[in-house]
Amino acid sequence: IISPIAVPTAFDGIDHCMLMTFHDLTPLRRVEEMRADFVANASHELRTPLAALSGFIDTLQGPARDDAKARERFLGIMQNQARRMARLIDDLLSLSRVELSVHVRPEARVDIAPLIRQVIEGLEALAKERQVVIELDLQLEAATIAGDREELLRVFENLIENGLKYGASGGRVVVSLTSAAAADGSEEFRFSVRDFGPGIAPEHLPRLTERFYRVDVGDSRAQGGTGLGLSLVKHIVNRHRGRLLIESTFGKGAVFTACLPSQKPVAGG
Ligand code: ADP
Repeated sequence: IISPIAVPTAFDGIDHCMLMTFHDLTPLRRVEEMRADFVANASHELRTPLAALSGFIDTLQGPARDDAKARERFLGIMQNQARRMARLIDDLLSLSRVELSVHVRPEARVDIAPLIRQVIEGLEALAKERQVVIELDLQLEAATIAGDREELLRVFENLIENGLKYGASGGRVVVSLTSAAAADGSEEFRFSVRDFGPGIAPEHLPRLTERFYRVDVGDSRAQGGTGLGLSLVKHIVNRHRGRLLIESTFGKGAVFTACLPSQKPVAGG
């Protein structure tokens, strides 16, 4: 950006002077590119089930019109596709809500141990379907943090659900809650989910929390995934001033840990 400026008196005799300032537009451009990528990905993800729905409607109006069996089957598939779109829209809305409020730390006092139990109960049907045993190792009964109950439920749910979906079918998933000292000496709670499935190759690890990033898109879709879960988890954990750690030994399983700063109970509160 070049702009003319007034000539300082010390430079008498010089008629014109230019001030040149340089702005690095690279970060701004990167944000723009990320936004454009996000819109393109979201549109593509929504278009896929929509195209399937449209195709089945054509078939039901045409070749399958009088075939009761085919109609039944296609309606089932259409229901699944519609549910997938609804899940995707829910995740997109949750992500945008959390992103907008990422700088505001939630303040309600939440005891996380009962939430973890609640999530495991809700996932029992999936665990049964995948023939996975969930082992719960709660080393603390009272673990209070300053947080948002619904958001924390999403974190626990996403991480345990991923362990069930991507861990070895017929295996086990270990869910634990421990207390540890954070780098600054304060107390933090560590919620972790360990599975013994195929794990994640090192090149994928840094990208897992990107929106729509999936190691195997087909596998994720087959499991009803949207590719937004870990991105949402990371944003929620950040909003709670915590950290998300992902470790994996390829071929042996993965461990996802959400470290959340503790809130000491207020005396008499
Ligand atoms: P999705 O909706 O696809 O499950 P996530 O954001 O939750 O999206 O996860 C992103 C990708 O990370 C998944 O598609 C999967 O490839 C990989 N992933 C997540 N959890 C695990 C795990 N426990 N073991 C192996 N891969 C995993």
